[in-house]
Amino acid sequence: MPIEFTPLQRETLTAIVDTFVASVPREDDPDGFYAAKGSDVGADVAIEQYLLTRLPEEQLAGLLQLIDGVGLFEFKAQPQAAREEILANVAAISPEAAGAIAALNQLSVLFAYSLPGPDGHNPLWQGMGYPGPVQNPPQDARKTLEVITVAGETTLEVDVVVVGSGSGGGVAAAVLAEAGKRVIILEAGSYHNESDFVQSEVAAYQNLFLRGGFFPSADGMVSIAAGSTVGGGSTVNWSNSLLTPNTVRSHWAEAGLTDVDTPAFDEHLQAVFDRIRCNDKVATQNGPHERLSDAASKLGYGYRVATLNIDPERYDPNLIGYSGMGDQTGAKQGTMRTYLQDASDAGAKLLPNVWVDRILTDNGAAVGVEATYTDPQTRQSSRVVIHAPTVVAAAGSLETPGLLLRSGIGGPAVGAELRLHPASLVSGVYDEPQDPWYGPAMAGIMNEFAETDQGFGYLIECVQHLPGLFTTVVPWLDGAQHKELTRKYRYRADWVFIVKDRGAGSVTLDENGQSTFWYPFTDELDRRHFREAAVTSIRMHEAAGAEQIFLAGQPFAPWQRGEDLEAFIEKVNEIPIGPGGTPVFSAHQMCSAKLGSDPQTSVAKPNGELHDVTGVWIADASGMPSCSGVNPMVSTMALARRTAMNMLGDDRRKTSAAAD
Ligand SMILES: Cc1cc2nc3c(=O)[nH]c(=O)nc-3n(C[C@H](O)[C@H](O)[C@H](O)COP(=O)(O)OP(=O)(O)OC[C@H]3O[C@@H](n4cnc5c(N)ncnc54)[C@H](O)[C@@H]3O)c2cc1C
Repeated sequence: MPIEFTPLQRETLTAIVDTFVASVPREDDPDGFYAAKGSDVGADVAIEQYLLTRLPEEQLAGLLQLIDGVGLFEFKAQPQAAREEILANVAAISPEAAGAIAALNQLSVLFAYSLPGPDGHNPLWQGMGYPGPVQNPPQDARKTLEVITVAGETTLEVDVVVVGSGSGGGVAAAVLAEAGKRVIILEAGSYHNESDFVQSEVAAYQNLFLRGGFFPSADGMVSIAAGSTVGGGSTVNWSNSLLTPNTVRSHWAEAGLTDVDTPAFDEHLQAVFDRIRCNDKVATQNGPHERLSDAASKLGYGYRVATLNIDPERYDPNLIGYSGMGDQTGAKQGTMRTYLQDASDAGAKLLPNVWVDRILTDNGAAVGVEATYTDPQTRQSSRVVIHAPTVVAAAGSLETPGLLLRSGIGGPAVGAELRLHPASLVSGVYDEPQDPWYGPAMAGIMNEFAETDQGFGYLIECVQHLPGLFTTVVPWLDGAQHKELTRKYRYRADWVFIVKDRGAGSVTLDENGQSTFWYPFTDELDRRHFREAAVTSIRMHEAAGAEQIFLAGQPFAPWQRGEDLEAFIEKVNEIPIGPGGTPVFSAHQMCSAKLGSDPQTSVAKPNGELHDVTGVWIADASGMPSCSGVNPMVSTMALARRTAMNMLGDDRRKTSAAAD
């Protein structure tokens, strides 16, 4: 029998939600912000649904036991202060209880500040100064990619199957289709375009992201996000387009990809830059960017305006700030609007809503894939088999290793090294509104410490505004204080620091054959850079004039101007990294099916074809021999282009050998 909440459990959950997002009595409350509590927005209902559908049964049973325990205190009838104390006492019982209470806190805040009401707006947003969605999606945006649908068991035959339509898969599909190959692209996500994007964070997580949005690694260390829709990460990402740094190119060359530090790779990078229309004309510097560049110049740090894959002719600074939730304007030049269109125009077919279970091989050579198609309307599934002598694995660094492991191919290095560019957030609250929804999310880079230490270091950049997620990072000391600080949303400049990681995590399969991610974050250099990046961000906010500063989730009050900054930094340095401390995020997954010369430490040969199976090629960020060190989209695309052209080279050799 599926688990259900009892009426008492439901009542207790609602009271917990309303403790974390509390109604705070105030005489001066013109927009009802202080009076509104989490359940007024439906956060309790959303959390119950989330827990029932997303939590493994064992964990759910444990959580319900904890909720039962809280319910024993006649929790609902207690005043706010008593409820806060009860929850703190329950959290003190054990690390597991603390984790569960922290998770309920995060979910309460996330849903309360992101769920849209019936008119698309959340009643709390007005008090935060957040405009919410600015317009309905255009209804006239045609879906121009050639899509096939399947009904019942289906078998097809093509030259090349591309698994995944993201940054890497899209590029590979275009190169191969334009060379005359019969290509099919299989994408687990659905085909959403401008007409479907509603500028809502929750809708974006549900429809466009892998596993419904940020989800924890198996060890709880990192909260991971990746795109899962047609275009993959390139549909939801923040458009920051950076060339692969020379140090990284040298490292890849040392790993065996010798052409990568020659002009041959410049050509791949330039071709990508041109096709996705990277330019610096659209890099409007909004409040958070002005604060970042101002701080950099005051402290003598390097800052540069970003090039972005945003079409200047379609660019609207009032709308582009929502493009991480899917871009209504069509300005963002992800693969959906560029390479997948090229592939489609050259005859490639796209099959969305299909999960590739495994790659089929015969005698050490690819012969196709086996997949499961799920009809998005009826949820009915059917088996799809595609016969093809060539398979391109481009399911992203989270899923390509799982695909190879399920297929029993790729050798010992599959999933052995997962790099994540671990990241977190430091926020400054300023006197003037910062309005991060105006202009592109990520239009500048503070790169002073990018390679500060043995080639490793960190970047500091601005972020896509996400009212739910970025309210979860506001320190929660009590219900009233959290409301107070949350209300300052439009006055915040949020900066993300991104660590170029030397250490790695891994990808394994669980008992159901699903990918599981591990990231112990034990590398001392990476941990040092994570802490240094947080401190640099704090000092920069101070230099830029912030009135208050806080590190994501810190368990004490923000620094206030006039207070001792060094004492604050000392306290910040004592916060643990990860669970129970500073949250670690990742939007950049790489290296989990590396290219390289050594079959013991890499999955594919330097040209991109697996060491142990002919006809299977890696064309996504998983193939990077080491992390890109900068935002990885352009590097992923350039590497995929290189792999696809290597595939054609091989084919040509085969053709000419046959002719001889
Ligand atoms: C929120 C966010 C912001 C970002 N911002 C930037 C930025 O500003 N600049 C930048 O350079 N990078 C950015 N990135 C990172 C960048 O988007 C990724 O590094 C890049 O898209 C990786 O490309 P990929 O081909 O490896 O994987 P993806 O683009 O993730 O594509 C993989 C695709 O494979 C599909 N798939 C997975 N498993 C299967 C399966 N079994 N069967 C079929 N299909 C499958 C997925 O659904 C997905 O669509 C951001 C990422 C995120 C999540």
